[in-house]
Amino acid sequence: MRLDAPLRAGEVALVGAGPGAAALLTLAAASLISDCDVIVHDALVSDEVLSMAATGAELIPAGKRGGRPSASQADICDMLIEQAKAGKRVVRLKGGDPFVFGRGGEEVRALAQAGLRFRIIPGITAGVAAPAMAGIPVTDRSVNATLAFLTGHEASDESRMDWQALAKAFPVLVFYMAARNLPRIASCLLGAGLDVQTPVAIIHAATTEHEQTNTGTLQQAAAGALEAESPAIVIIGDVVTSRTIWRDET
Ligand code: SAH
Repeated sequence: MRLDAPLRAGEVALVGAGPGAAALLTLAAASLISDCDVIVHDALVSDEVLSMAATGAELIPAGKRGGRPSASQADICDMLIEQAKAGKRVVRLKGGDPFVFGRGGEEVRALAQAGLRFRIIPGITAGVAAPAMAGIPVTDRSVNATLAFLTGHEASDESRMDWQALAKAFPVLVFYMAARNLPRIASCLLGAGLDVQTPVAIIHAATTEHEQTNTGTLQQAAAGALEAESPAIVIIGDVVTSRTIWRDET
């Protein structure tokens, strides 16, 4: 079946909304968003993307957003099941890619257990899009043959990260959800032996009008001198030095 075929009544599409700009949606995402009955969306999905919904489609925010109370994951799964059982054509819209730090796996398991038809539409993940917008290639032949995507939430007291192993295995580290924990992450990496001069970039709200990139060293990051608001992607490694951007001087 074609990924962009119209949804059937009672079907759920788990759709990646990409990093923000509607121009980065897949063709399947664009057509399903503009032809469904209900869109259950995360807080990170941009207004530009949501504005593509058909008039008459119901928009239900179900985002997890640091700090603010939001629906529990179980409630979100129950809501998707309820809407589909009512015969609605449901789009579950998530920022970036639904399966990258997006709990998409939990949602499709719940749908499958409920015997509901579903489909998965990948999206462009922020960990690739944000560096790209900043002109940073996540791999560069002269720098890295491996690449790690990590969550910055783990840099807490009960961290499950093996910082030594990470520092050794991955010349380039891309952190999601790291805006708040950057000083701690940087300290852990310095403790694991990374050079104080290792370049770091933090990219806020990539592909939106609020996009902003700050760069510095691991030492500055550890000292709290490199900051950005959430949502932000942090990329650490020598690829940051190969940053190449078009400067319009007209
Ligand atoms: N499923 C999403 C990630 C969800 S976790 C994806 O594949 O992109 C939420 C984190 O994504 C944020 O804390 C931030 O680190 C990152 N993020 C999402 N959109 C972003 C954007 N436009 N710019 C920078 N970071 C973004």
